[in-house]
Amino acid sequence: MISDESLLEFAKEYGTPLYVYDGDLVVERYRDLFKFIPYDRLKIHYALKANYNPGLLTLLRDAGAGLDTVSPGEVVYALKLGFPRERIIYTANNMTDAEFEQVLAMDVVMNIGSLSRLRKIAKQHPGMKLCLRFNPDVCDGDNEKTMTGGDLTKFGILLESVEEVKALVKEGNLRVIGLHEHTGSGLQHAESVYQSMDNLMAIATPENFPNLEFLDFGGGFKVPYKPEERRVDYVAMGAEIARRFTAFTERYGRRLDMLFEPGKYMVAEAGHLLTEVNTIKCNRTRVIAGCDSGFPQLIRPVLYGAYHQIRNLSNPAGKPVVYDVCGNICETGDRFAEQRELPEIREYDILAVGNAGAYCYSMGGVYNLRPMPGEIVVSGGKVVSERRKLTTEELAVQILGECSAK
Ligand SMILES: *Cc1c(COP(=O)(O)O)cnc(C)c1O
Repeated sequence: MISDESLLEFAKEYGTPLYVYDGDLVVERYRDLFKFIPYDRLKIHYALKANYNPGLLTLLRDAGAGLDTVSPGEVVYALKLGFPRERIIYTANNMTDAEFEQVLAMDVVMNIGSLSRLRKIAKQHPGMKLCLRFNPDVCDGDNEKTMTGGDLTKFGILLESVEEVKALVKEGNLRVIGLHEHTGSGLQHAESVYQSMDNLMAIATPENFPNLEFLDFGGGFKVPYKPEERRVDYVAMGAEIARRFTAFTERYGRRLDMLFEPGKYMVAEAGHLLTEVNTIKCNRTRVIAGCDSGFPQLIRPVLYGAYHQIRNLSNPAGKPVVYDVCGNICETGDRFAEQRELPEIREYDILAVGNAGAYCYSMGGVYNLRPMPGEIVVSGGKVVSERRKLTTEELAVQILGECSAK
């Protein structure tokens, strides 16, 4: 783990705002899954969208991880980073014809989640090898915006459409090598993981899909965000997952690969966003700590009402005061935390926003034309890679370079 003293040193050396990632923790999380889930043909395809930092991805590539990608851009990026194409899955969602052709040409397994696309493939690409995404019919996630199963979401093919799927597969002589489901992010109940697996395994019969090579149960493994949240017992969960899957392979008559696609679990806790407080302000009812980052650089509190721990690295023993921790963006909702008790914050103190490794930088933008923070990856006690923050000058030049008058 990176100590708070080291984080303070990094803030001084690289400036704020700054994302710091613990690369060793990410690799450890990856390796732990193989210990937790005792099944010899387990494959972990890290969900690239959670954090696309190239330093972290290089460590995962070298550790043997595969990737779950969700756009042609992610596939291009993964190939450029040296991930072998056979370790990449592309999970399509509302894909254009041009995107389909682009990914087809890159020769990675496509995971198809709509009957509409399956019909086109059956007509235009007879014999194609593919994976099919089903809606597991289980609703779970850390908030309603991250639930991807059930009646209210756009994802996957309905389980009851399996006969229609089989007819299309037959018509196009397609080779279905995998079945997939993804229930949501931050699954709150172990039972949801098992139920989604069972629902997918129920249609994965040799009669329905005789050519299966793998089943892919998506991501969603949760990590604690709030101080009182307990860590999931992944040893118990992994054993139950392996037990159910092994029983399934016996019914299926052949051993298959079992895939998971964790994003949050692998990277969330490895990230810290360091930001400096520049203004302390007392309004009638609120004490405001104003810092040099803002919601476009870490949007989860604003988008999901997510809780992120905040530490005052510069004054950890200060007397507790209740703050609104606000950013530098011209929006009232620009807060990392509202009415949060923290050790007294003074101007120029450095705060660390915790659990900032997943869906933070990767969801970022440059609203108000503030460049995204720099990023560093720490491994073996030293900084192994850096992505620097653009200067305001560079950002302006970049935008104008993309534009021309007509
Ligand atoms: C986002 C996503 C994941 C990863 O979800 P986490 O909650 O980060 O584990 C896995 N699979 C698919 C298809 C996804 O869209």
